[in-house]
Amino acid sequence: MPKFYIQTYGCQMNVYESGVVRRVLADAGFAETADEQDADVLLMMTCSVRSHAEQRALGRLGTFRALRSERAGRVIGVLGCMAQRFADALVTDHRADIVVGPDEYLRLPELIASVRAGTTGLVATRQTSECYDAIMPARGLSPKGDCPQGSVSPVSAFVTVMRGCDNYCTYCIVPYVKGRERSRPLASVKAEAERHAASGVQDITLLGQNVLAYRDGSRRFPDLLAAVASALPRVRVRFLTSHPRDLDSSLLETMQRLPNVCPSLHLPVQSGSNSILERMNRGYTREEYLAKIALCRKVLPEVCLTTDVLVGFPSETEADFKATLDLVEQVRFDFAYMFRFSFRPGTRAEEFAPKVSEADGGRRLARLIEVQNRITAERNRGMLNREFELLIEGPSPRDSGWLGRTVTNKVVIVKGRCAPGDLVRCRVTRINGWTPVAELPARAAAVC
Ligand code: SAM
Ligand code: SF4
Repeated sequence: MPKFYIQTYGCQMNVYESGVVRRVLADAGFAETADEQDADVLLMMTCSVRSHAEQRALGRLGTFRALRSERAGRVIGVLGCMAQRFADALVTDHRADIVVGPDEYLRLPELIASVRAGTTGLVATRQTSECYDAIMPARGLSPKGDCPQGSVSPVSAFVTVMRGCDNYCTYCIVPYVKGRERSRPLASVKAEAERHAASGVQDITLLGQNVLAYRDGSRRFPDLLAAVASALPRVRVRFLTSHPRDLDSSLLETMQRLPNVCPSLHLPVQSGSNSILERMNRGYTREEYLAKIALCRKVLPEVCLTTDVLVGFPSETEADFKATLDLVEQVRFDFAYMFRFSFRPGTRAEEFAPKVSEADGGRRLARLIEVQNRITAERNRGMLNREFELLIEGPSPRDSGWLGRTVTNKVVIVKGRCAPGDLVRCRVTRINGWTPVAELPARAAAVC
């Protein structure tokens, strides 16, 4: 049985897509290996959102090439966003054997077979309306790579509800590489979630670049959320990402009504300056964003709010940056992903001027991280001496203890005897750095 190895870079949607690839290859008679030395096929699921991610993947391709030269017949495949963006150049300049864009994974077995039969340099980058509806993604052996969500716990799963994006934020490459926005039928999303639940999954995250653009006939995202959450009342249901422009009270009321929908919202703000938001084509103002945050907190008082912030966008002045810092202080997000602007070829912002210098961009990012880290630590300190229901995901990779997740998506280190899948109720007794730590006095007494 030929063996494949897959490394995933990028966001949760890439983790999901690697699951699709795993299933396609397993159905074609391949076995996965977690050891690249043992693999006949070396695959890389790539991300093009920032240049840094691309550079790392290209560096890793060098290692793949070295491995290929050690064993005749080894195949190297580049998948995902970089495959779509670079296409033939990955064959000519980087000597990949196959290059497969986000809509062509079903062709992988055929492409691998062609390379093993002697053809090289196969590029499959057609953009279609593919949603991989008939594919139940498979779990990886030991996901590895630069993906922050790389080690998905056995008790949680991602389910993609829509693919592509039509928003064309001026800095973003996603609409070009992932194609047009399209939604999966509600019934198929629900069926996939039910299959996960039947196999023991207790925490499901519905995924899309903007889940609030979801449509199946007249049914919108709140209908999908309600359908999944009502069908699986014992499973925690969350979702990512919500475009602030599309957030409205119908979503918040659905979240409030369904007890197993987690009160957590990821609402990327990107900037606190109206002129920058306009140049980014985000479709909301600072005031509108703040009004939506106020509405979220009114309807869901315990809501956990997270965001993405982008600094150093072309023409961003010190005053614009201060407006961003001011918004971050005002909202007091629980957590933020923070980035320095990276020029993406082909996006509208590539032409925008004046550019922010490396030094200014770096300084602004460092300052923003400093401010948000303080706020995250302060918010986590607010968990001290409070009790939480935690879903145990697995052993903590860094210290003795377990990783537990609150409904608000906060990770807590749990000390005591428990096992993955346990729901435990315990009190946060200290904060280590910014990570809350809870003690489980006795297993029998603590399991919910
Ligand atoms: N769809 C989501 C949304 O609307 O916010 C975000 C998806 S994007 C892949 C994730 C984050 O990457 C964005 O929110 C943005 O902060 C960041 N990002 C996108 N393009 C970027 C660029 N050119 N440079 C730096 N960061 C970027
Ligand atoms: Fe990119 Fe904007 Fe689409 Fe998010 S909504 S994927 S930032 S274009």
